[in-house]
Amino acid sequence: MSKTYTIVALKGDGIGPEVTEATVKVLQAAEAKSDFKLNIVYGEAGAHCIPQYGTNLPAETVELIKKSDACLKGPMTTPEEAGAPVSVAVTLRRMFNLYANVRPCKTFPNVESLKPNIDFIVVRENTEGLYSGAESLLAPGVGIALRIITHDASLRVAEFAFKLAMQRRKHLTYIHKGNILRITDGIFKDAVKEAQKKYPEVEVDDLHVDAATMQFIKQPEKYDVLVTTNLFGDILSDEAAQVTGSLGLAAGANIGDSYAMFEPVHGSAPKYTGMDRVNPIATILAGAMMLDWLGEKAAAKKIEDAVVAVLTEGKVRTHDLGGQAKGSEITAAIVSKIQ
Ligand code: NAD
Repeated sequence: MSKTYTIVALKGDGIGPEVTEATVKVLQAAEAKSDFKLNIVYGEAGAHCIPQYGTNLPAETVELIKKSDACLKGPMTTPEEAGAPVSVAVTLRRMFNLYANVRPCKTFPNVESLKPNIDFIVVRENTEGLYSGAESLLAPGVGIALRIITHDASLRVAEFAFKLAMQRRKHLTYIHKGNILRITDGIFKDAVKEAQKKYPEVEVDDLHVDAATMQFIKQPEKYDVLVTTNLFGDILSDEAAQVTGSLGLAAGANIGDSYAMFEPVHGSAPKYTGMDRVNPIATILAGAMMLDWLGEKAAAKKIEDAVVAVLTEGKVRTHDLGGQAKGSEITAAIVSKIQ
């Protein structure tokens, strides 16, 4: 009997609905050529929920997620005023302990990138650091934010990164600012070194985060798996996305021990809402990562191959890739290539 996976899809805000719907079409095309079933249920989340629910993550949506196998999350707008609900992504990462944020950075055929042959993965600690949400005003004009780094969270993300490196080219680079943040990044560095003992085959080196931003431009092809703390990973993976081609191609996974959420690296790009202009591939590749995580590796590969085929052909290109095509056109092209 074929397996059925329940997926909660959160369309989100801005360009979220269009890239999420595009991804559902592609997932359904892959499902049609495979022997599993997808039960896709939609949940409400994002800034548009706040007037009606008083929150960007209604309790009903959390209940849907608890009963599902995985979550496909569209990008969402995060209000920036003090006291506003925190980012849905940050809440879900903490609520479901999705401690490893995995962002592959790979060049694609026929897509202009800073250098050819880039293929590395940024693994970002996803539950603490400067995303602790612990901020306060000490006095008018004087604020503090707590950068919480623990040994346990650092160790589990380091172990995740070492396991990934073992499946790839066995090279791990850890990124920190230990020369300045001696206590917090000292804890992070010690945890990586502790994890390293179990993986003697993995070649390990490290970089200060400022040097890493430069190295990603200078010789990005050198790296395999990178592991770092939350904010550094967020910044570096956006940079890496642009170095490899476009933010419109960059997918991310938020993985815990028993649940995972998949999303594009980019945000809700509100100025493009409803224009059918942006590139849905980042979210489509997040959908492929979801199938891979669920164990449907052949179906994930069908999607990746279809994306590569469309990019290689180069006939249908969205604006970020130097073309004029609509998001719906590139989606249709990808669907047509799923075999
Ligand atoms: P953004 O990623 O939404 O957009 C920045 C720019 O990147 C866009 O103006 C556009 O030029 C380009 N871009 C983004 N997605 C693209 C795509 N699919 N195709 C082509 N080009 C694309 O970043 P921002 O403007 O800093 O943030 C907008 C909102 O998104 C904010 O409210 C922010 O908090 C939120 N955000 C959410 C997430 C998330 O849900 N995980 C992540 C990042 C930002």
